[in-house]
Amino acid sequence: MTGERGGMRVAVVGAGIVGVCCALHLQHAGHAATLIDPRAPGTATSFGNAGGIVTGSVVPNSTPHLRHAIPRILTDADSPVWLRWSYLPKITPWLLRFLRDGSDARVRQIAAALQPLVSRAYEAHRELIALTGADGIVRPVGWLKVFETEAGFAATAYDRALMAANDVRFDVLNADEIHQLEPALARRFVKGLLQPDSAFVSSPYRLTEAYVTHFVRLGGTVVPDRVRGVRPTDHGVELDCERGFLPVDRVVIAAGAWSKQLARQLGDHVLLETERGYHLNIDTSTELRRPVVFHEKGFVLAPMEDGVRMTSGVELAGLDAPPDFSRIRRLLPYAQQMVPGLSNKVTRQWMGYRPSTPDSLPVIGASPHTSRVFYAFGHQHLGLTLSAITGRLVAALLDGLVPEVDVTPYRVGRFDQQHTERR
Ligand SMILES: Cc1cc2nc3c(=O)[nH]c(=O)nc-3n(C[C@H](O)[C@H](O)[C@H](O)COP(=O)(O)OP(=O)(O)OC[C@H]3O[C@@H](n4cnc5c(N)ncnc54)[C@H](O)[C@@H]3O)c2cc1C
Repeated sequence: MTGERGGMRVAVVGAGIVGVCCALHLQHAGHAATLIDPRAPGTATSFGNAGGIVTGSVVPNSTPHLRHAIPRILTDADSPVWLRWSYLPKITPWLLRFLRDGSDARVRQIAAALQPLVSRAYEAHRELIALTGADGIVRPVGWLKVFETEAGFAATAYDRALMAANDVRFDVLNADEIHQLEPALARRFVKGLLQPDSAFVSSPYRLTEAYVTHFVRLGGTVVPDRVRGVRPTDHGVELDCERGFLPVDRVVIAAGAWSKQLARQLGDHVLLETERGYHLNIDTSTELRRPVVFHEKGFVLAPMEDGVRMTSGVELAGLDAPPDFSRIRRLLPYAQQMVPGLSNKVTRQWMGYRPSTPDSLPVIGASPHTSRVFYAFGHQHLGLTLSAITGRLVAALLDGLVPEVDVTPYRVGRFDQQHTERR
């Protein structure tokens, strides 16, 4: 039951950036790793993000302030977070837990659990970049938020206190400093918030592709198939794929927003939702040097290799509803005011599924029902950021080593009803 180099045969289900980083680390640890995905690697959610490796992102999505935003979410046609009403019954259990996880006490716990992941995120990518030769795609340019109003900036006081409490470095910028940093922006921003330790991936797809190319060059296998079932056997795990059965020693489920159904087969009930997000690719070259978050409107402009990518906020509508590009399209004229000279020629419109738990923490670790199946999903707005460190942790856990980070907060069992009631 061993792989060619004496390690185990490990199947990684899902070839998004998270699965790919897991496969690379498992291969590096001497296992015979196989990536299984019906889609080409890196072409689902990992294709279309804003490219941020955001090393200071310790603020979860649910905070005490979110409650004030609920009326806007429910009524404002241009709110950065919106819900399709028809989806409300399905998402209610997730939403209730999400709101509960937004208490001040919980937020502090969650931030402390995110900190060891995000603070290692860029270093972990640099390790893989050195291993794979994926140079020139990632730049250390920081992560910039800009504010049109003092009130908008003041509303981030809670977030800033949380960042400071978790040793996140950030600079508060005035209008002139923003202009020096990003001369392509219109001069209408009164405040900026720069996390200087963050980095930018100018083509998330090319980064995944470079990682996969290295993986294959070193003997890794990519199987274009969909996994329908995961069954532990006496000695290993059997995967029921559309094209047949695959016996392996260990399995890593890294299927992004689609992981819930596979985990359920093993008896693990996860509160996993999709925070859908959109992008428009704008055929233009600008002098933007880094991704810029326009805080009040909740979108990002990122200078990608193939144009400026405008990414949206969050739509709560599940995996099956058709995309609705009307909101992000409505933001384009506003974006043109923010960056004079930005064209309105859209060459691609895209939608992806952020795999999100109510507590904004990923699921990393073994299934309590079988120590042969490991989970690596639920990375919400931070899947690109956290992919490399997740791969490192999964490889250590699979080999029975003590991981560099205490993974207790990411255990799958935290969604159990019993646990919920005990807290
Ligand atoms: C608009 C937007 C902006 C974002 N910006 C950022 C950012 O700046 N920084 C950041 O860190 N993150 C960002 N994110 C989040 C990030 O993109 C995601 O967290 C990340 O891509 C998730 O990666 P993944 O590998 O888990 O999932 P995916 O990339 O979705 O990959 C999952 C894969 O699993 C496969 N799969 C599903 N079911 C099966 C099955 N049964 N069998 C086999 N394969 C299966 C799918 O085909 C897919 O290829 C953003 C997301 C969006 C939508």
